[in-house]
Amino acid sequence: MSASRPHVAVIGGGLAGIAAALECADLGARVTLLERRGRLGGLTWSFQHGGRWVDNGQHVFLRCCDEYQWFLGRIGAAGDVQLQDRLDIPVVSPAPAPGGRPRVARLRRPAVRVPAPLHLAGSLIRYRHLGVRDRLALGLAVAPLRRLRLDDPSLDGETFAAWLARHGQSPAAVSALWDLITVPTVNLGASEASLAVAAKVFQTGLLGDPAAADIGWSRVPLGRLHGDNAAAALARSGVEVRLAARVERVEPSGAGFSVLGPTLSVDADAVVVAVPHDDAGGVLPPGAVPGQDRLGELGSSAVVDVHLVYDRPVMTWPLMAGVGTPLQWVFDRTASSGMEPGPGRPQYLAVSFSAADHLLGRRPEELAGWVAAELPRLLPVAGEARLVDSLVTKERRATFRAVPGTARLRRGPRTSWPGLTLAGAWTDTGWPATMEGAVRSGRAAAHACLAGAALPLQHTEEVA
Ligand SMILES: Cc1cc2nc3c(=O)[nH]c(=O)nc-3n(C[C@H](O)[C@H](O)[C@H](O)COP(=O)(O)OP(=O)(O)OC[C@H]3O[C@@H](n4cnc5c(N)ncnc54)[C@H](O)[C@@H]3O)c2cc1C
Repeated sequence: MSASRPHVAVIGGGLAGIAAALECADLGARVTLLERRGRLGGLTWSFQHGGRWVDNGQHVFLRCCDEYQWFLGRIGAAGDVQLQDRLDIPVVSPAPAPGGRPRVARLRRPAVRVPAPLHLAGSLIRYRHLGVRDRLALGLAVAPLRRLRLDDPSLDGETFAAWLARHGQSPAAVSALWDLITVPTVNLGASEASLAVAAKVFQTGLLGDPAAADIGWSRVPLGRLHGDNAAAALARSGVEVRLAARVERVEPSGAGFSVLGPTLSVDADAVVVAVPHDDAGGVLPPGAVPGQDRLGELGSSAVVDVHLVYDRPVMTWPLMAGVGTPLQWVFDRTASSGMEPGPGRPQYLAVSFSAADHLLGRRPEELAGWVAAELPRLLPVAGEARLVDSLVTKERRATFRAVPGTARLRRGPRTSWPGLTLAGAWTDTGWPATMEGAVRSGRAAAHACLAGAALPLQHTEEVA
């Protein structure tokens, strides 16, 4: 330990841990980042298959994800993502009769600035996946949803679907509209999702700033976007990164802490624990946070992606959503996988399933065959194209399970030891488990740990 520069150990090299490490370094601390895997990036990673880069699952962000975009800038990756000029989601349902055309509705905000929520009024009036009565009834929910107070604890006492039903929304409206947003953002359908988390998503993304829901995605593999860029940024900031460094526990020691693992022992003035909720309880010293042995009750919800490569382009949009079909969202991953896109050239689609626990038990080849058989009902050209490759990725513990009653299990950054703080997308960020929540938690934990340890600091932000 240096007398002049505090030493912070950050445990976990996901987005929360990386953000915490960079923030601590920017605040003038000496930082050691300990990650049990052989790479950085946590739940966002990539691998090679058939000469292409495959992500473990499609990741998107919204324009309202301020801190995530700060993070991209901080690691020098802002140019590696694409953000829509304005929200535009083609929503496709299968043809009502055999031989007919799929039906497409666009959820799009207008080019001229219209205040929220009127910016979506035009799209919703024309939203052909809902009957006229359901479209007219949307207003019964939109206004009260805007007015909900997110700091009201009773919001975490019921499901979003129960609240929607009380506000005039039919099961058809939940399935064809509300779940289109709830399922990918909360990673649960409205019938399970806590009203508290769903209300946060809708208020922040769709009912506040009209530009908030413009969708962004990576132009490069996730492993490069986060892992490689972060490794370079951490090195530039002088952060020591130790991979394959599993931490077993943190013990208070003198005025600081000992961070201990099978192959490591690190002394630090302050510690940020940025590991998943089911690991955090065991790493923290006993009694660090109330209910520490119950963090596992946050549970998990899966994401499954079916990756399909066709011999020709079958989808003209960068992304689309499905209704009236089990397929949820489809993304064109051709360029980001390293393939050359273009007419007559192969196209790589990732078909993404959130809230996908029910798919975990199905064999990859069965899932790929099922999706390949269903896709032509939405994209008829896929029925004429040849499928040249397929692959399935399953992330069992993609997010915690944001059902009613989980808010009390999500802890803020502070523990009962000043200088020892918590980060991670599962912590009490107000957001569902997202990249935005992870970055927010990491930065908050960095400030809280250095303030808690009352260490002398000097701000030294490095510009990437
Ligand atoms: C398939 C999929 C799709 C997703 N889609 C989206 C999306 O579209 N948009 C979005 O915003 N979010 C999405 N998410 C969620 C988002 O990826 C996560 O919320 C976020 O990456 C979590 O970051 P984290 O740092 O909190 O946790 P993690 O990424 O889990 O990082 C924790 C790190 O701690 C390490 N660790 C654990 N235990 C120890 C230990 N004992 N010692 C040392 N290290 C340890 C782990 O190896 C890991 O690297 C998706 C997630 C998945 C899996």
